[in-house]
Amino acid sequence: MAESRHPATMAAQALGWIDEQTKALIPPVHCATTFIRDPDNQYRAGYSYGRTTNPTFVQPEALLAKLEGGAACLTFASGMAAATAVFLALRPGDHVVAPQVMYWGLRNWLKSFAAEQGLLVDFVDAGATDALAAAVKPGRTRLIWIESPANPTWTITDIAAAAEIARRAGARLAIDSTVATPVLTRPIELGADIVMHSATKYLNGHSDVVAGALVTARQDELWDRIAAIRSGNGAILGSFEAWLLLRGMRTLHLRVERASRTAQAIAEHLVRDRRVVAVLYPGLSRHPGHAVAARQMRGGFGGMLSIRVAGGESAAIATAARVTVWKRATSLGGVESLIEHRASIEGAGSPAPGDLLRLSVGIEDAADLIGDLEQSLAGAG
Ligand SMILES: *Cc1c(COP(=O)(O)O)cnc(C)c1O
Repeated sequence: MAESRHPATMAAQALGWIDEQTKALIPPVHCATTFIRDPDNQYRAGYSYGRTTNPTFVQPEALLAKLEGGAACLTFASGMAAATAVFLALRPGDHVVAPQVMYWGLRNWLKSFAAEQGLLVDFVDAGATDALAAAVKPGRTRLIWIESPANPTWTITDIAAAAEIARRAGARLAIDSTVATPVLTRPIELGADIVMHSATKYLNGHSDVVAGALVTARQDELWDRIAAIRSGNGAILGSFEAWLLLRGMRTLHLRVERASRTAQAIAEHLVRDRRVVAVLYPGLSRHPGHAVAARQMRGGFGGMLSIRVAGGESAAIATAARVTVWKRATSLGGVESLIEHRASIEGAGSPAPGDLLRLSVGIEDAADLIGDLEQSLAGAG
């Protein structure tokens, strides 16, 4: 039984699924938008129309639910489609607690659209359990949203403590776990109700699919509303993207383990470099979230880190301009390492300091990556 296997085995074999008819090891891409009704008017196979669900979704959703230890999973057209579906399932007047440091696109959406739709959103320092607890309004707060490690300072939120705060307030805890992946953290085991992923990042892992996913701890009324929103808003993944996502997930463990190991080595190397004024990485004992991260992350601290370059914003941008192995690009979680001046993309209201470069560590040779950072920092003279 798949249940008794280790997560890396379940992922590599996509839960061991074999096509009944052909014995194919790899599933087909189902392009059908419509399905035959049974003569007695039923849809026994479970499929009716392509905006509600698609057989190609079934395997990546089942695999991710299993890896997260959840009851069900829904894939979405993007990470943003997945995240916003959770907020859209709330009702006008509901109160939400969200982090000050979080994925900028979602922060902007919460500040504009969610507020206009009548949600009351308070942004707090989610690295401080006290601040989360103080922001909750019992009876009014419906959702606590966290992200750990959080973009772009890799702030760590204590997931178990946040879950306890939510439980006592009668609210749900949802977490953007894109950066940790189920390889390193399983938030549902720590008490989270909903886990969100930008599957564009590590889950797919090859920078060639935009996708999102939600995993729920239990199938309840909120989950039914979220599923209805996916269908009603048409926020579904394309068939080919779903197929590519499953293909990417087969190597998730290898990629995340390698990226985490290399990120740790890069962080430890740069901490000694005087051209770098700060290295932000939860795997360093000096990171304010290190102790909590060590408790809730297993087997590594992830592939994302940021550095603050001596000389300020212009020195940071000039450093990024000199890389040859790293690629100057936004996004994260792919096999190729990316470097980005974060304040330039986040714009006004960003908590990213001007001297900050965000590094997404890929699976290349660690010495090549360190050597390239060395030469680009050296260019600052
Ligand atoms: C990229 C990202 C998102 C948004 O996902 P999309 O797939 O781009 O819509 C959300 N959260 C985090 C942490 C991300 O990195």
